[in-house]
Amino acid sequence: MNFNLDRITRENVKGLSPYSSARDEYVSDGSMMVFLDANENPFENGVNRYPDPQQRALKTIVAEQKGIKCENILLGNGSDEVLDLLFRAFCEPKEDNIITLPPTYGMYKVLSGINVVENREVLLTDEYQPNVSAIKEQINSNTKLLFICSPNNPTGNSFSKERIQELLESFNGLVVIDEAYIDFSLEESWTSKLAKYPNLIVTQTLSKAYGMAGIRLGICIASAEIISVLNKIKPPYNVNQLTQERALNRVLDQKSVQTEVATILAERKKLITTLETVSFVSNIYPTDANFILVKVDDATKRYNQLLEKRIVVRNRTTQPLCENTLRFTVGTSEENSKIITALKTLSNSYGK
Ligand SMILES: *Cc1c(COP(=O)(O)O)cnc(C)c1O
Repeated sequence: MNFNLDRITRENVKGLSPYSSARDEYVSDGSMMVFLDANENPFENGVNRYPDPQQRALKTIVAEQKGIKCENILLGNGSDEVLDLLFRAFCEPKEDNIITLPPTYGMYKVLSGINVVENREVLLTDEYQPNVSAIKEQINSNTKLLFICSPNNPTGNSFSKERIQELLESFNGLVVIDEAYIDFSLEESWTSKLAKYPNLIVTQTLSKAYGMAGIRLGICIASAEIISVLNKIKPPYNVNQLTQERALNRVLDQKSVQTEVATILAERKKLITTLETVSFVSNIYPTDANFILVKVDDATKRYNQLLEKRIVVRNRTTQPLCENTLRFTVGTSEENSKIITALKTLSNSYGK
């Protein structure tokens, strides 16, 4: 594998330099200053100043916790913004292509459409693992990004390390490993392999295990060289002040996060035990995430029956390799009791 960041970066992006905001030019030494540089309203209300465009306080803690450096991190308005930046930095519209592995997260395809970049879909195997030889066949010199979601949404499983490693070692574009659900998994994050693979990008988020979907905070972890390309094109104030503050408080409170994750995992186990007894469930797929994919007799019928009982789950039946599947997110103990009762009632009237 011969990875060359310059080769895969868009020509127009190579020539850009990041927008330099008033707050970028002046770096605080901690002493009291009078700020008359950014045309802000001077009356303090907590958000009257522009936020730190580089989110230094938050990045410092995140870097320390993940054993990396601030220069290896880019933060975004959700991982969705991070993923969009990857398209805009590396994929020439109407020329380049990306590879995705359905059934998987829908945003890769949406972003390929928005950015006019061909999406080459290579189905997972029947065991929901990457089909490495089929992926290699699809790669050409215009293939810039390969999206690997592990643990995968909506299937829930983690991909084989050996297969991911083989792709990292053979593909000379960027391998984006989406670890949105990594905090529910016992698998090690690929961030530990950053030094080994210059073409590796890991994305994480505060939207799932950290319980902060509402503040929109996505994390991109990669080599300092890749991060500086992304810094050239990111909107200067893409992570707002309130998000930076709430995220900082949350990442500092690892104990609460871990307690919630442990509770969710215990609830997941309880839900699986019930699903095993449900007459119309024919398969419960292995999961490393906070949701469970199950195969049922008739997904749309069961989806509607649950809806009548005021419970919304995700019907995945139209996804490839997911015919008649439903995806259940693990809720609180109370919420799970409701779905357990509903499933048992429906199970008892099976065939009637
Ligand atoms: C939920 C999810 C995300 C999170 O996206 P945000 O924009 O950070 O909320 C990213 N990737 C996958 C696979 C997801 O399921």
